[in-house]
Amino acid sequence: MKKYDRECEVVVVGSGMGGMTCALALARKGKKVEIIEQGSKFGGYLSYFKRDNFLFEAYLHVFGDCEKGGLMYDLLGELGLRDKIKFSRIDYTLFTPKGPVIFPRNSDEIIKALSPLFPGEDQGLKNLLNTMKTIYNDFLKLPSPSPVLERYKDKTCKELLDEFLKNEELKNLLMGAWLYILMPPSKTSAIMISVLMMIYLLSQGGFFPQGGSKAVVEAFSKELEKDQTRMTLKTKVTKIIVENGRAVGVETEKGERIRADFVVSNAAARQTFLDLVGEKELAIDFVTDLKQKELSLSSFVVFLGVEMDLEKLNLTHQIFVNTSTKTFDEAYENVLKGEIGDYITITIPTIGDPGLAPGKNKHSLTIWTIAPYHLEGKDWKVEREKIADKIIRKAEEVIPDLSKHILVKNIATPLTLEKFTLNTEGATVGWIQTRETVFGRPQQKSPIENLYLTGHWTMPGEGHMLTAKSGIDAAKLILSR
Ligand SMILES: Cc1cc2nc3c(=O)[nH]c(=O)nc-3n(C[C@H](O)[C@H](O)[C@H](O)COP(=O)(O)OP(=O)(O)OC[C@H]3O[C@@H](n4cnc5c(N)ncnc54)[C@H](O)[C@@H]3O)c2cc1C
Repeated sequence: MKKYDRECEVVVVGSGMGGMTCALALARKGKKVEIIEQGSKFGGYLSYFKRDNFLFEAYLHVFGDCEKGGLMYDLLGELGLRDKIKFSRIDYTLFTPKGPVIFPRNSDEIIKALSPLFPGEDQGLKNLLNTMKTIYNDFLKLPSPSPVLERYKDKTCKELLDEFLKNEELKNLLMGAWLYILMPPSKTSAIMISVLMMIYLLSQGGFFPQGGSKAVVEAFSKELEKDQTRMTLKTKVTKIIVENGRAVGVETEKGERIRADFVVSNAAARQTFLDLVGEKELAIDFVTDLKQKELSLSSFVVFLGVEMDLEKLNLTHQIFVNTSTKTFDEAYENVLKGEIGDYITITIPTIGDPGLAPGKNKHSLTIWTIAPYHLEGKDWKVEREKIADKIIRKAEEVIPDLSKHILVKNIATPLTLEKFTLNTEGATVGWIQTRETVFGRPQQKSPIENLYLTGHWTMPGEGHMLTAKSGIDAAKLILSR
Protein backbone atom coordinates (compact mmCIF):
# COMPACT_ATOMS: atom_id res chain seq x y z
CA MET A 1 0.00 0.00 0.00
CA LYS A 2 1.31 3.48 -0.88
CA LYS A 3 2.30 5.34 2.26
CA TYR A 4 0.92 8.91 1.96
CA ASP A 5 -0.17 11.28 -0.86
CA ARG A 6 0.46 14.44 1.15
CA GLU A 7 0.85 15.68 4.67
CA CYS A 8 -0.24 18.50 6.96
CA GLU A 9 -0.08 19.27 10.66
CA VAL A 10 -3.82 18.91 11.33
CA VAL A 11 -6.48 17.29 9.19
CA VAL A 12 -10.09 18.21 10.03
CA VAL A 13 -12.86 15.80 9.01
CA GLY A 14 -16.01 17.84 8.25
CA SER A 15 -16.73 21.55 8.00
CA GLY A 16 -19.65 22.22 10.34
CA MET A 17 -19.28 25.10 12.79
CA GLY A 18 -17.10 22.91 15.02
CA GLY A 19 -14.79 21.94 12.16
CA MET A 20 -14.46 25.43 10.68
CA THR A 21 -13.76 27.16 14.00
CA CYS A 22 -11.14 24.58 14.97
CA ALA A 23 -9.43 24.81 11.57
CA LEU A 24 -9.36 28.61 11.63
CA ALA A 25 -8.14 28.83 15.24
CA LEU A 26 -5.25 26.52 14.29
CA ALA A 27 -4.52 28.23 10.98
CA ARG A 28 -4.37 31.60 12.74
CA LYS A 29 -1.52 30.19 14.84
CA GLY A 30 0.40 29.15 11.74
CA LYS A 31 -0.60 25.48 11.64
CA LYS A 32 -0.81 23.81 8.25
CA VAL A 33 -4.39 22.58 8.18
CA GLU A 34 -6.51 20.66 5.70
CA ILE A 35 -10.33 20.39 5.90
CA ILE A 36 -12.01 17.50 4.12
CA GLU A 37 -15.78 17.78 3.61
CA GLN A 38 -17.97 15.12 2.03
CA GLY A 39 -20.79 17.52 1.08
CA SER A 40 -20.94 19.80 -1.95
CA LYS A 41 -20.74 22.92 0.27
CA PHE A 42 -18.90 23.79 3.47
CA GLY A 43 -20.89 24.46 6.64
CA GLY A 44 -22.73 21.24 7.57
CA TYR A 45 -25.93 22.36 9.31
CA LEU A 46 -24.93 25.92 8.38
CA SER A 47 -26.02 25.20 4.84
CA TYR A 48 -28.25 27.00 2.36
CA PHE A 49 -29.72 26.50 -1.08
CA LYS A 50 -31.35 28.55 -3.81
CA ARG A 51 -34.59 27.78 -5.68
CA ASP A 52 -36.05 30.23 -8.20
CA ASN A 53 -33.92 33.02 -6.69
CA PHE A 54 -35.20 32.42 -3.15
CA LEU A 55 -32.24 31.80 -0.83
CA PHE A 56 -33.22 29.30 1.87
CA GLU A 57 -31.63 28.61 5.20
CA ALA A 58 -31.37 24.82 5.23
CA TYR A 59 -31.29 24.64 9.03
CA LEU A 60 -30.49 27.97 10.72
CA HIS A 61 -33.08 29.90 12.72
CA VAL A 62 -31.10 32.12 15.08
CA PHE A 63 -27.74 32.85 16.63
CA GLY A 64 -27.31 34.14 20.19
CA ASP A 65 -24.95 36.05 22.47
CA CYS A 66 -23.51 38.04 19.53
CA GLU A 67 -23.06 41.44 21.19
CA LYS A 68 -20.26 42.70 23.41
CA GLY A 69 -19.97 40.49 26.49
CA GLY A 70 -21.60 37.55 24.69
CA LEU A 71 -20.12 34.12 23.99
CA MET A 72 -20.32 34.37 20.17
CA TYR A 73 -18.92 37.89 20.21
CA ASP A 74 -15.89 36.67 22.15
CA LEU A 75 -15.38 33.55 20.02
CA LEU A 76 -15.52 35.52 16.75
CA GLY A 77 -13.06 37.99 18.32
CA GLU A 78 -10.63 35.15 19.05
CA LEU A 79 -10.88 34.08 15.40
CA GLY A 80 -10.43 37.62 14.04
CA LEU A 81 -13.87 37.41 12.41
CA ARG A 82 -15.81 39.96 14.44
CA ASP A 83 -15.93 42.60 11.71
CA LYS A 84 -16.46 40.02 8.95
CA ILE A 85 -19.90 38.78 10.08
CA LYS A 86 -22.61 41.32 10.90
CA PHE A 87 -25.51 40.33 13.11
CA SER A 88 -28.94 41.94 13.33
CA ARG A 89 -31.22 41.61 16.31
CA ILE A 90 -34.32 39.53 15.78
CA ASP A 91 -37.54 39.15 17.75
CA TYR A 92 -39.42 36.06 18.85
CA THR A 93 -43.21 35.88 18.93
CA LEU A 94 -44.94 33.16 20.92
CA PHE A 95 -48.46 32.53 19.67
CA THR A 96 -50.16 31.13 22.79
CA PRO A 97 -53.81 30.01 23.14
CA LYS A 98 -54.47 33.53 24.54
CA GLY A 99 -52.80 35.34 21.60
CA PRO A 100 -49.36 36.55 20.49
CA VAL A 101 -46.65 37.63 22.91
CA ILE A 102 -43.42 39.25 21.71
CA PHE A 103 -40.78 37.68 23.91
CA PRO A 104 -38.80 40.38 25.78
CA ARG A 105 -35.20 40.68 24.63
CA ASN A 106 -33.39 39.90 27.90
CA SER A 107 -33.89 38.93 31.55
CA ASP A 108 -34.42 42.50 32.82
CA GLU A 109 -37.10 43.15 30.22
CA ILE A 110 -38.74 39.81 31.03
CA ILE A 111 -39.02 40.73 34.69
CA LYS A 112 -40.43 44.17 33.77
CA ALA A 113 -42.96 42.73 31.30
CA LEU A 114 -44.09 39.61 33.16
CA SER A 115 -44.06 40.59 36.85
CA PRO A 116 -47.22 42.77 36.59
CA LEU A 117 -49.04 39.99 34.71
CA PHE A 118 -48.25 37.33 37.32
CA PRO A 119 -48.66 38.94 40.75
CA GLY A 120 -46.72 37.26 43.53
CA GLU A 121 -44.23 35.67 41.11
CA ASP A 122 -41.79 38.54 40.65
CA GLN A 123 -39.23 37.51 43.30
CA GLY A 124 -39.37 33.89 42.13
CA LEU A 125 -38.89 35.00 38.53
CA LYS A 126 -35.87 37.14 39.45
CA ASN A 127 -34.33 34.29 41.45
CA LEU A 128 -34.97 31.80 38.64
CA LEU A 129 -33.37 34.00 35.99
CA ASN A 130 -30.39 34.71 38.27
CA THR A 131 -29.92 31.00 38.89
CA MET A 132 -30.09 30.24 35.15
CA LYS A 133 -27.52 32.96 34.51
CA THR A 134 -25.14 31.54 37.12
CA ILE A 135 -25.59 28.05 35.65
CA TYR A 136 -24.73 29.42 32.19
CA ASN A 137 -21.68 31.36 33.36
CA ASP A 138 -20.34 28.41 35.35
CA PHE A 139 -21.03 25.98 32.49
CA LEU A 140 -18.78 28.04 30.22
CA LYS A 141 -16.00 27.87 32.84
CA LEU A 142 -16.03 24.07 33.05
CA PRO A 143 -14.08 22.08 34.26
CA SER A 144 -13.76 24.61 37.13
CA PRO A 145 -15.84 23.34 40.06
CA SER A 146 -19.23 25.01 40.55
CA PRO A 147 -21.66 24.63 43.47
CA VAL A 148 -24.60 25.62 41.25
CA LEU A 149 -23.80 23.00 38.60
CA GLU A 150 -23.34 20.40 41.34
CA ARG A 151 -26.73 21.37 42.80
CA TYR A 152 -28.67 21.15 39.51
CA LYS A 153 -26.83 18.40 37.65
CA ASP A 154 -29.46 15.76 38.53
CA LYS A 155 -32.50 18.02 38.15
CA THR A 156 -34.87 18.40 35.23
CA CYS A 157 -35.95 21.72 33.81
CA LYS A 158 -39.40 21.18 35.36
CA GLU A 159 -37.83 20.73 38.81
CA LEU A 160 -35.89 23.96 38.32
CA LEU A 161 -39.04 25.88 37.33
CA ASP A 162 -41.11 24.37 40.17
CA GLU A 163 -38.50 25.46 42.71
CA PHE A 164 -39.06 29.13 41.88
CA LEU A 165 -42.50 29.56 40.27
CA LYS A 166 -46.08 28.48 40.98
CA ASN A 167 -48.04 29.73 37.98
CA GLU A 168 -48.18 27.10 35.19
CA GLU A 169 -49.03 29.68 32.52
CA LEU A 170 -45.90 31.66 33.39
CA LYS A 171 -43.78 28.50 33.26
CA ASN A 172 -45.19 27.62 29.83
CA LEU A 173 -44.55 31.13 28.58
CA LEU A 174 -40.91 31.04 29.73
CA MET A 175 -40.45 27.61 28.12
CA GLY A 176 -42.32 28.59 24.96
CA ALA A 177 -39.17 27.89 22.92
CA TRP A 178 -38.97 24.29 24.21
CA LEU A 179 -38.73 22.92 20.64
CA TYR A 180 -35.18 24.33 20.52
CA ILE A 181 -34.21 21.79 23.20
CA LEU A 182 -36.19 19.06 21.34
CA MET A 183 -37.69 17.80 24.62
CA PRO A 184 -40.26 19.14 27.08
CA PRO A 185 -39.22 20.61 30.47
CA SER A 186 -40.18 17.41 32.32
CA LYS A 187 -37.50 15.47 30.42
CA THR A 188 -34.68 17.88 29.68
CA SER A 189 -31.80 18.83 31.94
CA ALA A 190 -32.07 21.94 34.15
CA ILE A 191 -28.50 22.81 33.21
CA MET A 192 -28.85 22.44 29.45
CA ILE A 193 -32.10 24.41 29.36
CA SER A 194 -30.49 27.22 31.35
CA VAL A 195 -27.50 27.32 29.02
CA LEU A 196 -29.55 27.29 25.81
CA MET A 197 -32.26 29.67 27.03
CA MET A 198 -29.55 32.12 28.10
CA ILE A 199 -27.79 31.86 24.73
CA TYR A 200 -30.84 32.27 22.48
CA LEU A 201 -33.35 34.30 24.50
CA LEU A 202 -32.51 35.47 27.99
CA SER A 203 -29.01 36.93 27.88
CA GLN A 204 -29.01 39.28 24.87
CA GLY A 205 -31.96 37.96 22.85
CA GLY A 206 -31.67 36.45 19.35
CA PHE A 207 -29.58 37.47 16.32
CA PHE A 208 -29.37 36.62 12.65
CA PRO A 209 -26.27 36.99 10.47
CA GLN A 210 -26.80 39.44 7.60
CA GLY A 211 -26.79 37.35 4.42
CA GLY A 212 -27.65 34.21 6.43
CA SER A 213 -25.58 31.02 6.72
CA LYS A 214 -24.05 31.71 3.30
CA ALA A 215 -22.40 34.87 4.62
CA VAL A 216 -21.06 33.07 7.70
CA VAL A 217 -19.62 30.17 5.71
CA GLU A 218 -18.09 32.52 3.12
CA ALA A 219 -16.47 34.61 5.87
CA PHE A 220 -14.86 31.49 7.36
CA SER A 221 -13.82 30.11 3.95
CA LYS A 222 -12.20 33.39 2.89
CA GLU A 223 -10.11 33.62 6.06
CA LEU A 224 -9.17 29.94 5.90
CA GLU A 225 -8.01 30.36 2.32
CA LYS A 226 -5.98 33.44 3.31
CA ASP A 227 -4.31 31.30 5.96
CA GLN A 228 -3.38 28.73 3.28
CA THR A 229 -5.76 26.07 4.56
CA ARG A 230 -6.41 23.38 2.00
CA MET A 231 -10.19 22.94 1.70
CA THR A 232 -11.56 19.92 -0.12
CA LEU A 233 -15.22 19.32 -0.97
CA LYS A 234 -17.13 16.22 -2.13
CA THR A 235 -14.64 13.87 -0.49
CA LYS A 236 -15.67 11.49 2.24
CA VAL A 237 -13.13 10.42 4.81
CA THR A 238 -13.46 6.65 5.10
CA LYS A 239 -10.79 5.90 7.67
CA ILE A 240 -8.88 7.54 10.48
CA ILE A 241 -5.53 5.82 10.33
CA VAL A 242 -4.40 4.63 13.77
CA GLU A 243 -0.93 3.25 14.41
CA ASN A 244 0.04 2.00 17.86
CA GLY A 245 -2.96 3.74 19.43
CA ARG A 246 -2.23 7.12 17.80
CA ALA A 247 -4.12 8.84 14.99
CA VAL A 248 -1.61 9.55 12.22
CA GLY A 249 -3.80 10.59 9.30
CA VAL A 250 -6.89 9.82 7.23
CA GLU A 251 -7.86 7.96 4.12
CA THR A 252 -10.57 9.18 1.75
CA GLU A 253 -13.07 7.44 -0.49
CA LYS A 254 -10.88 8.48 -3.43
CA GLY A 255 -8.08 6.37 -2.03
CA GLU A 256 -5.93 9.35 -0.94
CA ARG A 257 -3.92 8.98 2.25
CA ILE A 258 -3.09 12.14 4.17
CA ARG A 259 -0.58 12.09 7.00
CA ALA A 260 -1.13 14.50 9.88
CA ASP A 261 0.23 15.10 13.38
CA PHE A 262 -3.34 15.49 14.63
CA VAL A 263 -6.77 14.47 13.37
CA VAL A 264 -9.88 16.47 14.36
CA SER A 265 -13.25 14.89 13.70
CA ASN A 266 -16.35 17.05 13.27
CA ALA A 267 -18.28 14.00 12.07
CA ALA A 268 -20.92 12.24 14.16
CA ALA A 269 -19.42 10.43 17.16
CA ARG A 270 -20.61 6.93 16.23
CA GLN A 271 -19.29 7.36 12.68
CA THR A 272 -15.97 8.71 13.98
CA PHE A 273 -15.31 5.85 16.35
CA LEU A 274 -17.22 2.85 15.02
CA ASP A 275 -16.69 3.40 11.28
CA LEU A 276 -13.62 5.61 10.82
CA VAL A 277 -11.44 4.45 13.74
CA GLY A 278 -12.85 0.94 14.19
CA GLU A 279 -14.01 -0.83 17.33
CA LYS A 280 -10.85 -2.89 17.69
CA GLU A 281 -8.87 0.24 18.59
CA LEU A 282 -11.25 1.14 21.45
CA ALA A 283 -12.11 -0.08 24.95
CA ILE A 284 -15.28 -2.20 25.12
CA ASP A 285 -16.90 0.13 27.71
CA PHE A 286 -16.38 3.16 25.46
CA VAL A 287 -17.93 1.36 22.48
CA THR A 288 -20.88 0.09 24.54
CA ASP A 289 -21.55 3.58 25.92
CA LEU A 290 -21.42 5.06 22.41
CA LYS A 291 -23.91 2.52 21.10
CA GLN A 292 -26.28 2.93 24.04
CA LYS A 293 -26.37 6.72 24.35
CA GLU A 294 -29.63 8.11 22.99
CA LEU A 295 -29.62 10.42 20.00
CA SER A 296 -31.56 13.69 19.86
CA LEU A 297 -34.69 13.82 17.77
CA SER A 298 -34.37 14.73 14.13
CA SER A 299 -36.23 17.49 12.28
CA PHE A 300 -38.90 17.96 9.64
CA VAL A 301 -38.61 21.18 7.65
CA VAL A 302 -40.80 22.78 4.99
CA PHE A 303 -39.17 25.53 2.91
CA LEU A 304 -41.55 27.96 1.25
CA GLY A 305 -40.91 30.78 -1.22
CA VAL A 306 -44.03 32.93 -0.99
CA GLU A 307 -45.40 36.12 -2.49
CA MET A 308 -47.52 37.94 0.08
CA ASP A 309 -47.49 41.03 2.25
CA LEU A 310 -46.18 39.67 5.56
CA GLU A 311 -45.32 43.16 6.87
CA LYS A 312 -48.95 43.95 7.53
CA LEU A 313 -49.25 40.89 9.81
CA ASN A 314 -46.58 42.33 12.15
CA LEU A 315 -44.67 39.06 12.14
CA THR A 316 -41.21 38.67 13.61
CA HIS A 317 -38.19 36.69 12.36
CA GLN A 318 -38.89 33.77 14.69
CA ILE A 319 -42.37 32.54 15.57
CA PHE A 320 -43.41 29.73 17.89
CA VAL A 321 -46.91 28.46 17.14
CA ASN A 322 -47.84 27.20 20.63
CA THR A 323 -51.59 27.32 20.11
CA SER A 324 -52.16 23.59 20.64
CA THR A 325 -54.39 22.47 23.50
CA LYS A 326 -51.97 19.56 23.98
CA THR A 327 -49.41 19.98 26.73
CA PHE A 328 -45.70 19.99 25.81
CA ASP A 329 -45.48 16.43 27.20
CA GLU A 330 -48.44 15.18 25.15
CA ALA A 331 -47.07 16.78 21.97
CA TYR A 332 -43.66 15.19 22.59
CA GLU A 333 -45.17 11.74 23.17
CA ASN A 334 -47.10 12.19 19.91
CA VAL A 335 -43.88 12.99 18.03
CA LEU A 336 -42.29 9.78 19.35
CA LYS A 337 -45.29 7.91 17.90
CA GLY A 338 -44.87 9.65 14.54
CA GLU A 339 -47.67 12.20 15.00
CA ILE A 340 -45.74 15.29 14.12
CA GLY A 341 -46.51 19.00 14.17
CA ASP A 342 -48.64 19.92 17.20
CA TYR A 343 -46.02 22.58 17.91
CA ILE A 344 -44.09 24.29 15.11
CA THR A 345 -41.76 27.22 14.57
CA ILE A 346 -41.74 29.55 11.59
CA THR A 347 -38.57 31.42 10.65
CA ILE A 348 -38.80 34.35 8.25
CA PRO A 349 -35.27 35.69 7.67
CA THR A 350 -36.56 37.97 4.87
CA ILE A 351 -38.38 40.12 7.47
CA GLY A 352 -35.03 41.60 8.53
CA ASP A 353 -32.99 40.65 5.47
CA PRO A 354 -35.19 41.18 2.37
CA GLY A 355 -32.23 40.59 0.02
CA LEU A 356 -32.58 36.83 0.58
CA ALA A 357 -35.71 36.76 -1.63
CA PRO A 358 -36.20 38.07 -5.18
CA GLY A 359 -38.20 41.28 -4.74
CA LYS A 360 -40.92 43.10 -2.87
CA ASN A 361 -43.43 40.99 -0.92
CA LYS A 362 -41.41 37.85 -1.64
CA HIS A 363 -40.24 35.86 1.36
CA SER A 364 -38.32 32.66 1.98
CA LEU A 365 -39.57 31.05 5.15
CA THR A 366 -39.06 27.74 6.89
CA ILE A 367 -41.50 25.83 9.04
CA TRP A 368 -39.68 23.50 11.39
CA THR A 369 -40.67 20.89 13.91
CA ILE A 370 -39.13 17.95 15.73
CA ALA A 371 -39.44 14.48 14.21
CA PRO A 372 -38.35 10.90 14.89
CA TYR A 373 -36.04 9.10 12.46
CA HIS A 374 -38.17 5.96 12.49
CA LEU A 375 -41.85 6.38 11.60
CA GLU A 376 -43.49 3.35 13.17
CA GLY A 377 -44.75 1.18 10.30
CA LYS A 378 -44.74 4.10 7.88
CA ASP A 379 -42.43 5.42 5.19
CA TRP A 380 -41.11 8.99 5.07
CA LYS A 381 -41.43 9.03 1.26
CA VAL A 382 -45.17 8.38 1.58
CA GLU A 383 -45.81 10.57 4.63
CA ARG A 384 -43.72 13.66 3.81
CA GLU A 385 -46.32 15.52 1.71
CA LYS A 386 -49.12 14.78 4.21
CA ILE A 387 -47.03 16.03 7.12
CA ALA A 388 -45.96 19.11 5.14
CA ASP A 389 -49.61 19.93 4.41
CA LYS A 390 -50.47 19.50 8.09
CA ILE A 391 -47.79 21.88 9.30
CA ILE A 392 -48.55 24.42 6.58
CA ARG A 393 -52.18 24.38 7.84
CA LYS A 394 -50.86 24.89 11.37
CA ALA A 395 -48.78 27.85 10.13
CA GLU A 396 -51.96 29.32 8.62
CA GLU A 397 -53.18 29.92 12.17
CA VAL A 398 -50.73 32.83 12.23
CA ILE A 399 -50.26 33.48 8.49
CA PRO A 400 -53.78 33.19 7.05
CA ASP A 401 -54.00 31.83 3.47
CA LEU A 402 -50.28 31.00 3.41
CA SER A 403 -50.92 27.98 1.17
CA LYS A 404 -52.45 30.19 -1.53
CA HIS A 405 -49.26 32.23 -1.93
CA ILE A 406 -46.64 29.51 -2.32
CA LEU A 407 -44.29 29.89 -5.33
CA VAL A 408 -41.67 27.36 -4.25
CA LYS A 409 -41.92 24.40 -1.86
CA ASN A 410 -39.28 21.99 -0.63
CA ILE A 411 -39.32 19.43 2.17
CA ALA A 412 -36.56 17.97 4.35
CA THR A 413 -37.20 14.82 6.40
CA PRO A 414 -34.80 13.17 8.86
CA LEU A 415 -33.49 11.14 5.90
CA THR A 416 -32.54 14.39 4.12
CA LEU A 417 -30.61 15.65 7.14
CA GLU A 418 -28.74 12.35 7.42
CA LYS A 419 -27.97 12.24 3.71
CA PHE A 420 -26.52 15.76 3.54
CA THR A 421 -24.58 15.91 6.82
CA LEU A 422 -24.08 12.26 7.86
CA ASN A 423 -25.41 13.15 11.30
CA THR A 424 -26.54 9.75 12.60
CA GLU A 425 -30.30 9.31 12.06
CA GLY A 426 -30.48 12.99 11.10
CA ALA A 427 -30.01 13.97 14.75
CA THR A 428 -30.71 17.69 15.08
CA VAL A 429 -28.25 18.38 17.89
CA GLY A 430 -26.24 15.19 18.42
CA TRP A 431 -27.19 13.52 21.70
CA ILE A 432 -30.49 13.82 23.56
CA GLN A 433 -30.40 16.65 26.16
CA THR A 434 -31.16 14.84 29.38
CA ARG A 435 -29.53 15.00 32.81
CA GLU A 436 -27.52 11.91 31.84
CA THR A 437 -25.96 13.42 28.72
CA VAL A 438 -25.35 17.00 29.84
CA PHE A 439 -21.91 16.01 31.12
CA GLY A 440 -21.88 12.65 29.33
CA ARG A 441 -20.85 13.73 25.84
CA PRO A 442 -17.50 12.28 24.73
CA GLN A 443 -14.64 14.62 25.63
CA GLN A 444 -12.79 16.59 22.95
CA LYS A 445 -9.59 14.77 23.73
CA SER A 446 -10.59 11.30 22.58
CA PRO A 447 -9.31 7.94 23.87
CA ILE A 448 -7.19 7.71 20.70
CA GLU A 449 -3.99 9.71 21.09
CA ASN A 450 -3.88 12.77 18.75
CA LEU A 451 -7.57 12.42 17.75
CA TYR A 452 -9.78 15.31 18.90
CA LEU A 453 -13.52 15.92 18.52
CA THR A 454 -15.46 19.08 17.70
CA GLY A 455 -19.14 19.82 17.13
CA HIS A 456 -22.38 18.89 18.83
CA TRP A 457 -21.39 15.26 19.50
CA THR A 458 -18.75 16.39 21.99
CA MET A 459 -18.60 18.85 24.91
CA PRO A 460 -19.90 21.45 25.59
CA GLY A 461 -23.06 20.92 23.49
CA GLU A 462 -25.39 21.85 20.67
CA GLY A 463 -25.98 24.89 18.49
CA HIS A 464 -23.61 27.21 16.68
CA MET A 465 -22.33 28.99 19.77
CA LEU A 466 -21.39 25.89 21.77
CA THR A 467 -20.03 24.06 18.72
CA ALA A 468 -17.90 27.13 17.90
CA LYS A 469 -16.59 26.92 21.47
CA SER A 470 -15.88 23.21 20.99
CA GLY A 471 -13.81 24.03 17.89
CA ILE A 472 -11.74 26.69 19.61
CA ASP A 473 -11.29 24.55 22.73
CA ALA A 474 -10.09 21.60 20.61
CA ALA A 475 -7.62 23.91 18.83
CA LYS A 476 -6.30 25.10 22.20
CA LEU A 477 -5.78 21.50 23.34
CA ILE A 478 -3.77 20.80 20.19
CA LEU A 479 -1.77 24.02 20.46
CA SER A 480 -0.89 23.19 24.06
CA ARG A 481 0.81 19.95 22.96
C1 LIG B 1 -33.28 21.98 11.42
C2 LIG B 1 -32.21 22.49 12.34
C3 LIG B 1 -32.28 23.77 12.83
C4 LIG B 1 -31.29 24.25 13.68
N1 LIG B 1 -31.35 25.55 14.09
C5 LIG B 1 -30.35 26.06 14.81
C6 LIG B 1 -30.32 27.44 15.11
O1 LIG B 1 -31.18 28.19 14.69
N2 LIG B 1 -29.31 27.91 15.87
C7 LIG B 1 -28.32 27.10 16.34
O2 LIG B 1 -27.41 27.59 17.02
N3 LIG B 1 -28.32 25.78 16.07
C8 LIG B 1 -29.30 25.24 15.31
N4 LIG B 1 -29.30 23.91 15.00
C9 LIG B 1 -28.28 23.04 15.60
C10 LIG B 1 -26.92 23.29 14.98
O3 LIG B 1 -27.06 23.40 13.59
C11 LIG B 1 -25.95 22.18 15.31
O4 LIG B 1 -25.93 21.86 16.67
C12 LIG B 1 -24.52 22.57 14.88
O5 LIG B 1 -24.51 23.35 13.76
C13 LIG B 1 -23.75 21.37 14.52
O6 LIG B 1 -22.46 21.75 14.10
P1 LIG B 1 -21.32 20.69 14.07
O7 LIG B 1 -20.03 21.40 14.22
O8 LIG B 1 -21.59 19.59 15.04
O9 LIG B 1 -21.31 20.08 12.59
P2 LIG B 1 -22.42 19.68 11.50
O10 LIG B 1 -23.17 20.85 11.12
O11 LIG B 1 -23.13 18.47 11.94
O12 LIG B 1 -21.45 19.32 10.30
C14 LIG B 1 -20.65 18.16 10.24
C15 LIG B 1 -19.96 18.17 8.89
O13 LIG B 1 -19.10 17.04 8.78
C16 LIG B 1 -19.23 16.50 7.46
N5 LIG B 1 -18.86 15.09 7.51
C17 LIG B 1 -19.44 14.11 8.27
N6 LIG B 1 -18.82 12.93 8.06
C18 LIG B 1 -17.81 13.16 7.16
C19 LIG B 1 -16.84 12.34 6.55
N7 LIG B 1 -16.74 11.04 6.83
N8 LIG B 1 -15.97 12.89 5.66
C20 LIG B 1 -16.04 14.23 5.36
N9 LIG B 1 -16.96 15.06 5.91
C21 LIG B 1 -17.84 14.53 6.81
C22 LIG B 1 -20.71 16.71 7.13
O14 LIG B 1 -20.95 16.64 5.75
C23 LIG B 1 -20.95 18.09 7.72
O15 LIG B 1 -20.66 19.10 6.80
C24 LIG B 1 -30.23 23.41 14.10
C25 LIG B 1 -30.15 22.11 13.59
C26 LIG B 1 -31.11 21.66 12.69
C27 LIG B 1 -30.98 20.27 12.13
